[in-house]
Amino acid sequence: MIQGLKVILSLSGCSIKAISAVEQKIKFVNRTERSGRVCRKLWLLRHNLSMAISCVKCGRQYDVTLFQFGRTINCACGERVGFEHKINLSKDEETKFFADVNVARVVRWLRAIGIDTTWEDAISDEDLVRRAIEENRFVLTLDKKLTEEWRVDNVLLLQSENSLEQFQEIVEHFKIKKPKEFFTRCLVCNTFLRNATALEIAAGAPQRVRENEQVFHFCSNCAKLYWQGSHTRRMQEAIEKAFNSIHK
Ligand SMILES: [Zn+2]
Ligand SMILES: [Zn+2]
Repeated sequence: MIQGLKVILSLSGCSIKAISAVEQKIKFVNRTERSGRVCRKLWLLRHNLSMAISCVKCGRQYDVTLFQFGRTINCACGERVGFEHKINLSKDEETKFFADVNVARVVRWLRAIGIDTTWEDAISDEDLVRRAIEENRFVLTLDKKLTEEWRVDNVLLLQSENSLEQFQEIVEHFKIKKPKEFFTRCLVCNTFLRNATALEIAAGAPQRVRENEQVFHFCSNCAKLYWQGSHTRRMQEAIEKAFNSIHK
């Protein structure tokens, strides 16, 4: 029985440590069940320990290995079969995102307010979902098909084609607060920025900028130098506007 549970847990992306913790709890629950204090989640797990997943409509059974990382399949009766993968963020864990290639332009807006957001060109849906689950990231997409094929609770299906409106949808959905400081993260590669050294400023900024600007930040991953130019000012204005229209 515990063996079956271990398979289900590992297929849904749980770590070995988490699995053995649940295993210990199950043993404990088995001993203390009569006391009536059985965690609902464990109770549900204990009653779903079979190696097959049934179609709710026709009852046909499918092997659990078909549903790795929240994948769903089409049953012969037309119903979609699957079981949902849940991601559990710890209390102080920040919301992180994995953007589908169809919403890649929203990435820089999120990075501009310091949110850890990644994306990859030419990644399959399967790899995208697996990576997002492994890294505890929420998936952002415009692709309805992805949300039908993968039954995972960490996908936000965006509506707008416009990246700033998408940004607004995300901020609204996840109740993201406006940051105190903007541009703390590299817009190109997602790395946290640090203060630039004099040498880096001399090498990366034209003289006119060096004379007019005081604050320079540097990405030590991709060697990009940042300062508050008209471009970042425009971006920040657009972001402020987006936040203001949400909280009205
Ligand atoms: Zn069916
Ligand atoms: Zn960078």
